[in-house]
Order: sequence, then structure tokens, then C-alpha cells
Amino acid sequence: MTKSLQLAAPTVQAFVAEIFAAAGSSPREASLLASHLVEASLAGHDSHGIGMLPTYVDSAQNGELKLNQSLRTVSDLGGILMTDGQRGVGQVMAHDAMCLGIERARVAGLALVGLSDAFHIGRIGAYAEQAVAAGLVSLHFVNVLSEPQVAPFGGKIARLGTNPIAIGIPRAGAEPIIIDMATSRWAIGKVRVAHNKGEKLPPGILLDSQGETSLDPGDIFGIPKGALTTFGEHKGWCFALAAELLGAALVGGITQSRPKTRPELINSMLTILISPERLGTAEHFARETDALVAWVQSDENGQPSRVKLPGDPERKYREDRRVAGLPIDRVTWNQILAAARSVGLEHDPAR
Ligand code: NAD
Repeated sequence: MTKSLQLAAPTVQAFVAEIFAAAGSSPREASLLASHLVEASLAGHDSHGIGMLPTYVDSAQNGELKLNQSLRTVSDLGGILMTDGQRGVGQVMAHDAMCLGIERARVAGLALVGLSDAFHIGRIGAYAEQAVAAGLVSLHFVNVLSEPQVAPFGGKIARLGTNPIAIGIPRAGAEPIIIDMATSRWAIGKVRVAHNKGEKLPPGILLDSQGETSLDPGDIFGIPKGALTTFGEHKGWCFALAAELLGAALVGGITQSRPKTRPELINSMLTILISPERLGTAEHFARETDALVAWVQSDENGQPSRVKLPGDPERKYREDRRVAGLPIDRVTWNQILAAARSVGLEHDPAR
């Protein structure tokens, strides 16, 4: 195993933006995308960070990802906004859909935003963070339309994507609670990262093509391929199904209901935004949240325990990586440099 590089986040962000601009993105698109990817890497989610760049550049070149699309409004009933991501850069489509939803939820107290068929929207927690920054609670259900990666509980064959779910809870005077997770035990990108690093998987994450437990991350990329398992056995499968139906079917997106011929990477998302202010419960909500957090984080003597809240691990990663830099394994960095060369950029900011 070769040692990872350690690069300063602003250096990487500038390089990522330069690559997307060279691939044809507008300055705004390149900048939003680079910022999302670097933020995901900073938050410790290397699976959804800059390691996605080679896939995006490749997809832009083969036409599956459409650069410089605008979010299309399908219908606008005020509190219900349905949009179409038109296979555009998902991070921009979802960001823009959230901005529109946030405006509406602040006025009406509640907004439902449908986003159908955007290209990969990345780390879903980013949209929960956008909502909590505006003082809103948010719920996100997302389907993944790509080569199926996850076996339904009780099945042996991959039928669904890693269908993430996120919930954002704002807190007055304290860091928000950000619940953001794949409904598979591991996100596929994490398996890719392990594969690139030459690492084995813990048991229970992956089935091989015969439906037996496998420790080899290569099994998910091989032919015939294996399948990821859902978290919490049948319970994760229930949520994966809900994310598929609510995240895509309900908002006009395409579901994984037929064999796929191309490995495109499309997300649809249902978002619900709620304003505690407008519900009239903001003070009560803040007080009860603080009391509950203190309760769950205390030990039997009333002293602080080591219990973390969802969102804490990402904050700790950010703190550390802003100082130490982003760790990037050599395989991933070489893939990024190859993508850069494919759009005419020859330099390597790591040198
Ligand atoms: P994860 O397992 O690392 O974390 C899941 C959640 O658990 C997070 O909210 C985290 O803050 C919380 N958490 C982690 N450790 C904790 C602890 N000890 N105590 C309390 N809370 C804790 O996340 P994941 O399931 O591997 O997902 C990784 C990323 O992949 C997410 O950002 C997700 O949005 C993204 N994703 C995206 C897609 C897509 O198609 N766009 C698909 C799947 C996953």
C-alpha cells in the first residue's frame, strides 16, 4: 500500500474548479461543484469528494452529464415546487432547488421540493446543512439510478442503488444535528476507496456474485458482480425502498425498475422543509432539543459521556483536515490527473 498525499483543501479546490472549467463548465458551475466535492472530502466522506471527479469528467465527455444546465421548474404551487434536474450537474441542481424551497418554507412554514433526474448530487448532508443554516428542519429521500449495487434484504442480486436519506435539525446556539446516510451498510464510494487503497472490507458489507459474504471490494466491480447489503438487515431495506419510491417515483423521477444498459449516475430527491418559527414551536423545539441532547450525552453520574451526535464526526474531520490537508491516495490522485490531462491540463499541483 503506498502512502497517501496530503494536500491543502484550497489548492485542491482551485485545481478541481480549473478541471471542470476546462471540461466546459461555467465559472459558477465549476466553483459550486469544486466547493461541494472538497467540502465532502473535508467532512471525511472521501467516497463523495474529489474522488468523484474522474467519473464526472468522463460522464461529461460521453454526454451522460450535461454541463451548464439550468434547473427547470415543472410546476410551482408555492409550497410545492417540482423541478427537473435535466441530467445537469447534480450539486448545482440540488443547491438551486434548495434555495427555492428555503424561500418558500420561510414564508409558508412548509415546503415540498421535488427534484427529478439530476446527475449525481453528491453528499446529501450538504442540502440538510443548507436548510439548517436557514433555520429549517429538512428531510431528504434520494434514489440512485445507476447500475444496481444493493441487494434487497433476503435477496442475492443487486437491485437498487445505495439510496441515501438525510435529516437536518437546526439548533439555536449549538451545532446542528445532521443525519446523512446511505441505506446500504456502506456507500459504494467507500468500497471504491477501499478498493483503490488495496484494503479488505469488514464482514457483512458485501455479497459475492453467488450471494456469499465477501471481504474483497473488487467483487462489486467484477463481472459477474456482487452486491452491497442494506444497513440494519430488513430495516435498511425498508428505508431503501421508501427512498426509491418517495425520492424518485413520487417526484417524477425514474426508478430502478428495469434492467439498465448504461452505467449513468442519476439522482432524484424529495425534500421537505419545515420552519419551527412558523409552526410556533421554535422556542419549545430548541429547549427540548437541548434537554434531550444533554440527557442522551450524559452518563449514569450525570457527567458528559462519549456519545456523539450525527454531524459530529464530519465536524471533527473538517477541523482536522483543514489543518492537516486532505489525504488523497495515489490511485485516486492519478485518476484525477488523468482526467485533467483529458481536458488539456498537464500540471500537477502536488509537485
Ligand atoms: P456514515 O455511515 O459515515 O454516516 C452516517 C450518519 O451517521 C452521519 O449522519 C454521521 O454523522 C452519523 N454518525 C457516524 N458515526 C457516528 C457516531 N459514532 N455517533 C453518532 N452519529 C454518527 O455515512 P454513509 O452512509 O457512509 O454515507 C456517506 C455519504 O454518502 C453521505 O454523505 C451520503 O449522502 C452519501 N451518499 C450519496 C449517494 C448519492 O447517490 N448521491 C448515495 C449514497 C450515499
